[in-house]
Amino acid sequence: MSSGMMPASMAAGRLTIDLGALAANWQDLAARAGGAATAAAVKGDAYGIGIGPAARALAEAGCHTFFVALPEEGLRVRDAVSDAAIYVLGGLIPDAGEAYVAADLRPVLNSRPELEEWAAIRRRGARTSAALHVDTGMNRLGLTLGELRKLAERRDLHEALGLSLVMSHLACADTPDHPLNRKQLAAFRAVRTLIPDLPASLANSAGIFLGQEYHFDVVRPGIALYGGRPVNGIANPMRPVATLEALVLQVREAKAGETIGYGAGETLRRPSRIAIVGVGYADGYQRRAGASDRRMGASGFVRGASAPILGRVSMDLIALDVTEVSGVERGDWVELFGPNVAIDDVAAHADTISYELLTALGPRYSRTYVGGPVQSRD
Ligand SMILES: *Cc1c(COP(=O)(O)O)cnc(C)c1O
Repeated sequence: MSSGMMPASMAAGRLTIDLGALAANWQDLAARAGGAATAAAVKGDAYGIGIGPAARALAEAGCHTFFVALPEEGLRVRDAVSDAAIYVLGGLIPDAGEAYVAADLRPVLNSRPELEEWAAIRRRGARTSAALHVDTGMNRLGLTLGELRKLAERRDLHEALGLSLVMSHLACADTPDHPLNRKQLAAFRAVRTLIPDLPASLANSAGIFLGQEYHFDVVRPGIALYGGRPVNGIANPMRPVATLEALVLQVREAKAGETIGYGAGETLRRPSRIAIVGVGYADGYQRRAGASDRRMGASGFVRGASAPILGRVSMDLIALDVTEVSGVERGDWVELFGPNVAIDDVAAHADTISYELLTALGPRYSRTYVGGPVQSRD
């Protein structure tokens, strides 16, 4: 199924993906990373924008190394970029090793059972390499420092596992003065002492902005590539990549004192003009971004002006206050995020992060890719 084949007029929401902006963001981050190689995290369907087109555009921009969560995502990157180095962050899924080898997908080895299973596969002649993941303070995936200490005594470790990378992951990089950042940096330096002579990788998007000492040999940005703000509390230096627009289905007038939408959650304080647009939570537009008498919701942008949400977000519809926006009519397109509505602002109104907004986008939109080497989703 490809919603990309749907004519724009058959869907009430449209998503425009600017692959030129994606490539420019990659180049911007590569410049900030200085001497380190810049990889790309393309898990979660490249944060919702489409893994195939994203991987091709990034490869064209100069990216050689990709991080995915699942082997299935790795296969899709392999189809898009035949010579890419592809790391699977979820590690070695039990008994899937031969499939990794067949597509040259490199497991990020996270635990001792994975190490043992991978070593056995290598002993049978596989040449695919792997990364070693050491946990430095997040307590998610990865070996403990204690486990690494024991392992590092083995002289044939690199060869037995075909190691091409050692990595760890920062828990608080988007908050630069969080004390855990320096603790993790110190722990990762200890990791490198225990297991030298391997390329090393610590920084995600935000980690790149923590400064050169966090860069090591390979950086792994995700959200900043897709236009999200990498660091809390600073202006976003990245270009927007995804623009979400919704069609105005109806414009109506309502009187002061009337209520809007489900639960009658918002009462109009003045006579209002309301635009009803055809996107809702079934399109991944977060229900929590809605408004009530007690809280402001997110806003759309139409005919050059901002238009705040009125009332709750429905499954397929949103109401916008266009009382102060002249000329809005049925058939207009409203920007819900993009160059005029920061995705991080919409996310903040929904008590979430841009990552969740992007990965929740779903298949109901007409999708258009602009500014890049490919036009289709698959
Ligand atoms: C998702 C992820 C990244 C990318 O993180 P961003 O915050 O999106 O830049 C890097 N490394 C690992 C291990 C990840 O899981």
